[in-house]
Amino acid sequence: MNILFHKIIVSNFNLQSIFSFGSDGGNMIKSITGFIPIVFLWAASAIAAPFSNVLIVSIDALHPDALSAKTTPVIYGQMMSGAFTLNGISTEPPLTLIAHTAMFTGLGPAESGKSDNNWQPGEPTIAKDTIFNLAMSRGFSTGYYYSKEKLGFLVNPAVSDHRFSKDNAVDKAHSFIQKQGDHFVFLHVSGLDEVGQVKGWLSPEYLEELSFIDEMLGALIDTVRQKGDYLIVITSDHAGHETVHGSQHPDDFKLPFVIVSDRIKPDRFQNIPYRVVDLKPMMERFLAPDPGLSSAR
Ligand SMILES: [Zn+2]
Repeated sequence: MNILFHKIIVSNFNLQSIFSFGSDGGNMIKSITGFIPIVFLWAASAIAAPFSNVLIVSIDALHPDALSAKTTPVIYGQMMSGAFTLNGISTEPPLTLIAHTAMFTGLGPAESGKSDNNWQPGEPTIAKDTIFNLAMSRGFSTGYYYSKEKLGFLVNPAVSDHRFSKDNAVDKAHSFIQKQGDHFVFLHVSGLDEVGQVKGWLSPEYLEELSFIDEMLGALIDTVRQKGDYLIVITSDHAGHETVHGSQHPDDFKLPFVIVSDRIKPDRFQNIPYRVVDLKPMMERFLAPDPGLSSAR
């Protein structure tokens, strides 16, 4: 417990310092000398990176230790050509809707107001701005495809196309991104959470399900890469241990973060400290308008 919370505090401190570079660089330099080179490169890369296709994939309940060349050749290929950390951290508590709300809004449950893990159609949806408001304001067509109905909580007017589909969310995302124009897509894939709760996290059955998901993602990722000017993120909402998730066990908070792009050098993102609330500020950096570079697209 103590080790876990220490990690959270340290991680939060580093990333807040990174993202404060533009507005308060002086204080940052005084406070975290060791991080200056990373901060500088990150800020520079984010400004100089226009993208035509942004794909964020959240594989529900993915334990980072499950990723390997043998089990997940597609994701492993992105890790090797991009960058990754296997030490990402979920929300407290580490549960599906709470963690995804944090990804979308950049806010933890206390700030976002979403502190329970439930939602049903007809109930109020997210009131805060999300990554989709950001993407739409930058001119992207936005698509959101999810495989648990409760994630409908995160649909708002900035989502131009969305679909709840337990089994076909990947295909829906693929169809959308094949259309003309610039796309910003968030894809949520489930399956591991169900197998984990019955057979156990990292069990042979869990790894078999993950291999199936990895294979499904292959064609979509190929399409995005072939289109060019892409940014792909592959991550998760939480992990689990034995047949349990959502508890205070350190494994329940774990998640991977993989990033690959043809517009930025990936090595500066290797082993960065990452929490689910960091996704939105990271996208704000990546999607920042840069008129000086727009003609180069
Ligand atoms: Zn989940």
